[in-house]
Order: sequence, then structure tokens, then C-alpha cells
Amino acid sequence: MTYTVPHFIQGKIVQGRSNHTQPLYNPATGEIIGQVALADKQEATAAIFAAKAAFPSWAATPATQRTQILFKFNHLLHQHLDELAELITREHGKTLTDARGSVLRGIEVVEFACGGPNLLKGAFSDNVSKGIDTYSMRQPLGVCAGITPFNFPAMIALWMFPLAIACGNTFVLKPSEKDPSCSVRLAQLMHEAGLPDGVLNVVQGDKIAVEVLLTHPDIAAVSFVGSTNVAEIVYKTAAAHGKRVQAMGGAKNHAVIMPDADLEQAADAIVGAAYGSAGERCMAISAVVAVGESTANHFINKLKNRVLDLKIGDGHSPEVEMGPLITAEHRERVKSYVDLGVNEGAKLVIDGRDYQHPTLKNGFYLGGCLFDHVAPHMRIYREEIFGPVLCVLRAPDLETALQWINAHPFGNGTAIFTQSGHSAREFATQAQIGMVGINLPIPVPSAAHSFGGWKLSFFGDTGMYGTDAIHFYTRLKKVLERWPSAVKVGVDFNIPTARA
Ligand code: NAD
Repeated sequence: MTYTVPHFIQGKIVQGRSNHTQPLYNPATGEIIGQVALADKQEATAAIFAAKAAFPSWAATPATQRTQILFKFNHLLHQHLDELAELITREHGKTLTDARGSVLRGIEVVEFACGGPNLLKGAFSDNVSKGIDTYSMRQPLGVCAGITPFNFPAMIALWMFPLAIACGNTFVLKPSEKDPSCSVRLAQLMHEAGLPDGVLNVVQGDKIAVEVLLTHPDIAAVSFVGSTNVAEIVYKTAAAHGKRVQAMGGAKNHAVIMPDADLEQAADAIVGAAYGSAGERCMAISAVVAVGESTANHFINKLKNRVLDLKIGDGHSPEVEMGPLITAEHRERVKSYVDLGVNEGAKLVIDGRDYQHPTLKNGFYLGGCLFDHVAPHMRIYREEIFGPVLCVLRAPDLETALQWINAHPFGNGTAIFTQSGHSAREFATQAQIGMVGINLPIPVPSAAHSFGGWKLSFFGDTGMYGTDAIHFYTRLKKVLERWPSAVKVGVDFNIPTARA
């Protein structure tokens, strides 16, 4: 039985009317399991209008009452964790444990958003000038939009709407059209938790719906996560239409392996970070820089066995470590990068291009691929591949590794594996990258610290979640007040100062 994924507008499931649909696949089997209704301009606008109508009363709801709903939502997310993980695995293909973990990382942000009343506290200074007090308050922006990628159907949506809503905004979420079911389920759970109609709306769609969100005068702010090309378009278009924008883009994350690293532990960490979720993570390690020839030789040997042993298959099976890619087209794209790497002269140590699953012949599987002797000018190194392909570069020293990392156009995450505090400190200080791991391959910050890369991995200035998000989803108002006494102050034509 196939299904059609609807919109969720004004507190209700709304079936798409545009006759514009896209098939949904189970990537593990290659079967079409449903379709998603893609919004036309009117449907996208209807979601904006629902959010606009709900804004005044939601903004006026005390922050403590708003967060009561988030507490209940948090509880429901825990209750429905397995169901959400199953939805993710079915449409995305990642393993159930990985899917579960991604929802838990999203839940951490909901828990952070439950601290809304504290996070929204303003500041107060009394007697800044004679008898004058100043205070500041954080006020919501209005209708905010979130546009999310396919690789984390729950987590990235949870980076956005809980905080926007805790701040008093209303929201329109436009999930990826490749795995859209989870977003509707999240909206339903928010309503079960008591969210008023129209505060959170989900509009399914493609660039037609995105275009409406980026240009509509009633959208105040746009949060985007996706590829760099689209992030840049989103940033420029939304900013040109007067909106606040944060747009996260693609990545090429390096791990530096120092000669003093524990190579066994580092190899375990890198295999998980490079091939977990079939490399479809913006924080996946896709480039290793081994410092010294001997480190490189030993490390490649350790990686080789682990990559050859990867258990590939349907993410529902508990023994599987790496699922399929999201679509057949994406698998072809990743394969074409492997062809390119061979043509560019890198040494393909493990070739996963001809991998065939023994029973699931039509699934979108690709074997793990490992390149050695990759050079900094090669396109397989400079561009994001977003698949199970790891490039190993060989550097003579940490300084050269840092030069390559800092010259790279992307700047999302990076890691160093070492036992030297000095090398680690030097690396953390010098790397021109937004998020740094020390003996940790995927340094995704916890919910109280904001997420965000540098360079082509991020357009904007305030990151996702953490206090950055409180700043992004509110604007600061400053109030100066004087309560006149019976004593007349008289007319003063000079600028007010605090000096007597
Ligand atoms: P994508 O850019 O293709 O799509 C992201 C969203 O933009 C989707 O909702 C899609 O419908 C919409 N979209 C696609 N093309 C569009 C266009 N031309 N105009 C307007 N909207 C458009 O990204 P994806 O393939 O879904 O996700 C993978 C990418 O996301 C990778 O590049 C990955 O690195 C990146 N990503 C980045 C982060 C981060 O935090 N930096 C996190 C996760 C994923």
C-alpha cells in the first residue's frame, strides 16, 4: 500500500491540490512506497497566512505557557521515538539506531528550548541618567520559515521550529521532498502537546514553495540547511527581500591523524564518521590528512580492513552498519566522483562501485570507497561528494595539514587525532573551521552551544540552536523610562548624557 504525504496547515492535515507530486522511494529496496504532494504558490501562501493569523495571539502568550507545550512535546517525542526512527529509516535508508540517535540529538534542542523564559530574559540598568532606567526585551519577529535537507528529516527541523516557537514566532516548515513524512508527524505531535492551530505549519514542496517563502512579505526570517549552491541562492534572495537569514551549506570535513595518535581508536572513529549514514552527513569526515608517510601507511592498512568489513544493507536490520544512498541518481553522482578520482590520478585502494547487495538488488547501495594519495588540487578533494568515499592525503607536518584545511573552500567541521595537548591546542586555535573535534570525529556541538560552519558552509552570522538561535529568532528592543517627579526638569536641547 502506498501513501501520499500531505501538508499540515492551520492544525490540520491538508491534501495537496496542485497535481504536482514526486515519488517516494524506500532506498533499501528501490521500491516506490508513496508520493509527496508538492505545493503550488497558493498552497505555500496558505501556510504563510495561517502562520500570520496565529502570530498575534501566540506572541502574546506568556513564555512560560509556550514552553509548557514544549515540555509535553518533549515527552511525546520520547514516547514516539521508535516510530519516528522507523519513518526516517523507511524514507532515508540510514540504520534504525542512527535514526534514533538523530531524533535524540533533536530532542536535546527541544529541551534547550524548554528554558525559553530564562533565555528570553532581558537586561535592566537602573539610573543610567538621573531618574532614568533602561531595559531591553527580546521580541519575536513574526512568521519564520525553515527549509530542511533530506539527510536529517527530524533533527534539523527540531533545530529550528521549537526555538522559533519558544520565542513567540509562528513557523512554516518546508522539508525535503525526498523524506517528508517525519515533518508531518512532528507537527501532529506538537498539536497533541497543545500547540494552537497555525503556529506550526508544514508545506511540502520543491523550489516553487521555497521561492514563495523567500520572497513573501509576511515571512520575517528564513532558516535553511542544504547544499552550498542552494544555501547561497536562499541567502541572497531572502536577504534581498528584507529577511533575516541563516543558511547552512555543504562541507568537506578533514580529520588530521598525527604520528602520536592511537591509530586503532582513530581508525574506528574515522570509519564510523566517514561511512556512517553512507557518508550523507554534513559533518561526515570525507578527507583524512595523515601526517608522515609511516602514519599514512599504517593508517591506510587499518582503514582498509574496516572498510572491506562494512556491513551494508537495509537499515532496519540490526547488524547493518551502512544503509543505501538516498536515490539512484545520487548513487550515480557519487560513483561518477569515484571515476573522476581515478582519472585525476588518486589511488583507489577500495572500489565499492560494483557493490551488489545479495538479495536487495534494486536498493540504492554503494560499497565503501577509499582513495589514497589524494592531492589538494583534485576535484574529489575540493568538492563535496556526500557519499561513502574517503580521501586520504599525506602531509609532512601539522603546518601543511592546517594550510590545506584553511585553503579549502568549505569550513564546517574538522578533527585532530593526537596525544599531544600542544598539537591539539595549536590545531583548535589555527583551523579556519567552525566546529573542531579533538580525538572526536563528529564535533556537533551540544544544544546550549550553537551549530554552524564557516566559509562556504554557512551564509549568515548567527548559527542554529544555542543562544545564537535566541538572537536569530528575536529582535532586541531597548526601553528608556523616566517617571517624572513633581520637580520640573525644563526644556533641554542637548543630547542626553549620563554626565552631570
Ligand atoms: P539541497 O540543497 O538539494 O536541498 C535542501 C532544501 O532546499 C530542500 O528542502 C529542497 O527542496 C530545497 N531546494 C533544493 N533545490 C532548490 C532550489 N534550486 N531552490 C530552492 N530550494 C531548493 O540539499 P539536500 O540534498 O537535501 O541535502 C544535502 C546537502 O545538505 C549537503 O550538501 C549537506 O552537506 C548539506 N547539509 C548541511 C548541513 C549543515 O548544517 N551545514 C546539515 C545537513 C546537510
